[in-house]
Amino acid sequence: MPVPPPFMLTTGPVTAYAAVLNAMSRPAIYDGHQAFQHFYRGVIGKLQSALRLTNLPLILQGDALLGLEAAAASLIGRTDVVLNLVSGVYGKGYAGWARRHGGEVIELEVPFNEAIDPVVVRRALVARPDITVIAVCHHDTPSGTLNPLAEIGAIAREHGAFVIADAVSSFGSLDVHPETAHVDIFVTSAAKCLGATPGLTLLGISERAWTRIKANPDAPRASFLSLLDWELAAEIDKPFPVTPSLAEIRGLDVALDLYLQEGPEQVWARHARTAAATRAGLKALGLRLWPIDEAIAAPSATVFHLPAGLTDNILRDTLLDRYGVLLSFGRGFTAGKVLRIGHMGPSAEPMLAVTAVAALGAALNQLGIRADAGAGVNAALAILDGAASNQADSKSSSREVADVDPA
Ligand SMILES: *Cc1c(COP(=O)(O)O)cnc(C)c1O
Repeated sequence: MPVPPPFMLTTGPVTAYAAVLNAMSRPAIYDGHQAFQHFYRGVIGKLQSALRLTNLPLILQGDALLGLEAAAASLIGRTDVVLNLVSGVYGKGYAGWARRHGGEVIELEVPFNEAIDPVVVRRALVARPDITVIAVCHHDTPSGTLNPLAEIGAIAREHGAFVIADAVSSFGSLDVHPETAHVDIFVTSAAKCLGATPGLTLLGISERAWTRIKANPDAPRASFLSLLDWELAAEIDKPFPVTPSLAEIRGLDVALDLYLQEGPEQVWARHARTAAATRAGLKALGLRLWPIDEAIAAPSATVFHLPAGLTDNILRDTLLDRYGVLLSFGRGFTAGKVLRIGHMGPSAEPMLAVTAVAALGAALNQLGIRADAGAGVNAALAILDGAASNQADSKSSSREVADVDPA
């Protein structure tokens, strides 16, 4: 088993919080016992708080792709016309499930460094009033770009369409919640911005979606894909549908405690500052960001173009072998074109932006590409200090470093 590098700045999974790992090592308790049932109900309650839901959320035992597939299988029926919004690899991939369960799939696609324009969504709904379901990825992680989920949700609600949203790598990094974004099935993960380990999907499901799922004869039952089965898991005195993944649930319990106790707003601010400092540093190094406009760059991942003449392998390996910094490769369309820096949960720590930028500056120079590592670090530090606005003040009061007088 390889030793994890000192700086795991990947785009998921991320190094879990130490307290999460600690909780996962506790002995099992029998799931038929009331103690387990109350514990589980408590975790559901904490997740409900984190998702700011008026009803109870669901936890599925399998990483987030299970939840995304289960959403399609449960909500989408044979007569549905699905509008699949595509701005990246995950959005594109959703069409496969939509086609398997739905009647017709219409795709609205933009280049994978851009975001979906809500005006175009509105136009698509006017052109095809028979659209009943909209699928959208909030943060398409291979691109590091955000779609305007709440705006799309509001347009869909007005039209009467159901929304399935992949918020796997955005929830916990910024102010996004199922009800305020008008999302009917909101899918997220324990292993990205919440800083727990892979293995659980977290879902927020609207009451209107529950009504539809219960009326859908094709919605899976007696299956790992069955949202109807998983709904029963939170009921005290009912047997758990399968043997619970106790370690993961314990880890999630602590991750939710950490999130709620630190304060969601503080957690989001930490993600935003880390991302802003990273982007400022990268630009000062002369690197180019992948998103066409920084306004759509996500707070949980910074994606940048590889400089001409470098492969992702050589840059990734130099960063890892010399500086202990592990970044993620691109994926699908962005593979071989970019590297990605994750700011998720424990890695959304502003000083880690300085680490990433310093290592990148050094690695580029190692590989024969001139980059001003000092300028990169200073640009990142300026964001950390919020110094851009009061640089003059700090200049007037700054002194040279001098040796302490031994006397
Ligand atoms: C990571 C990710 C997934 C898949 O989640 P897993 O937990 O790896 O199954 C889905 N969608 C997006 C946008 C992701 O970033």
